[in-house]
Amino acid sequence: SAPLDVSARREEFPILDREFDGTPLVYLDNAATSQTPKRVVESITDYYYEYNANVHRGIHNLSQEASIAYEEAHDTVADFIGAAGREEIVFTKNTTEAMNLVAYAWGLNELGPGDEVVLTEMEHHASLVTWQQIAKKTGAECRYIPITDDGRLDMDAARELITDDTKMVSVVHASNTLGTVNPVATLADIAHDHDSYIFVDGAQSAPHMAVDVQDIDCDFFAFSAHKMCGPTGIGALYGKEEILDAMEPYLYGGDMILKVTFEDTDFNELPWKFEAGTPSISEGIAFAEAVEYIEDVGIDRIHDHSTDLAAYAYERLSEHDDVEIYGPGPDERSPLVAFNIDGLHAHDLASIVNDYGVAIRAGDHCTQPLHDVLGASASARASFYLYNTREEVDALVEAVDEARQIFA
Ligand code: PMP
Repeated sequence: SAPLDVSARREEFPILDREFDGTPLVYLDNAATSQTPKRVVESITDYYYEYNANVHRGIHNLSQEASIAYEEAHDTVADFIGAAGREEIVFTKNTTEAMNLVAYAWGLNELGPGDEVVLTEMEHHASLVTWQQIAKKTGAECRYIPITDDGRLDMDAARELITDDTKMVSVVHASNTLGTVNPVATLADIAHDHDSYIFVDGAQSAPHMAVDVQDIDCDFFAFSAHKMCGPTGIGALYGKEEILDAMEPYLYGGDMILKVTFEDTDFNELPWKFEAGTPSISEGIAFAEAVEYIEDVGIDRIHDHSTDLAAYAYERLSEHDDVEIYGPGPDERSPLVAFNIDGLHAHDLASIVNDYGVAIRAGDHCTQPLHDVLGASASARASFYLYNTREEVDALVEAVDEARQIFA
């Protein structure tokens, strides 16, 4: 297929025209939050101007229109990741809430002393802290699959760590710090051989690569709209229907019920059993619009464009030998590059490149234990998406050179 038409795409993102004191914005913080195209923003204004109403229970026209759009948004998201249908897609606030939903609704009830949750050293705090704290409450234990020197999972260690004591394997699909794309289908096989569930954190994979949850055969998968051209405040939990069916609700209240008496309650069908109270209606509808936008541009095209930019950034940053880039080589990464420069703190670096209009992230990227393993307290991270250009990579590299000179 034809490569991505970046200049046409850029016109759909008004924010990319921002300047700071005459210096154009170079937005390379996409792994934290991506920008939002006009049609997604307009889907929110359309909702509020034309059919704002509460969903599910309304008889009147507006409520029916809102309900259909909100419920169909689940179908669009289900199709996007190869789920069987809306019954397998619960809208949550974000990836973090999806993880907590399973940890509270399943973990708190099912885990106990002697049980193990297997994570990886490259987990985001969204999964690491969640399972660590649920383990503390239940007496279960967390074990961590180590990484190799080049930032991949040590799969021999994984095969030893995942045992019949393992009840949940929670693994990040694409690392937001190393850029590593993990062999989640293989890990799913290993987990299932031991009758364990596997939860795949797709926050950094769903925006950038074709995902099919049935191919992976994961039990749970989660991602956030705001990292894939959608709004904040909405994300999705995928769960296999029979597992979600057997799981206790996470939040109780209106909308998640079928019949209530003073004594007891029958819960609603999937996915509404897990969506108590008035949901984020406009955000859910805009999430589906973002998915359709990505499908129109083409997820494979987005993947190739963004990973090509990341490889170019890797190459250009490596021109100096004072640079350490974390994770696997340039051709095998999710489209981000986390790095450090000798003698320059990541925060100082990010602050100086910001003076040149370049937005990158500095810190631990919610992977503090991984940074301990890497022997760095922080790193700088540039991350790319469909509207970025090679010229923007050059602008980053030049700004990094300026920072080098300032601190030399
Ligand atoms: N997992 C990974 C790998 C991430 O990069 C992020 C976002 N930084 C999250 C989970 C959490 O996403 P959210 O903040 O949208 O819940």
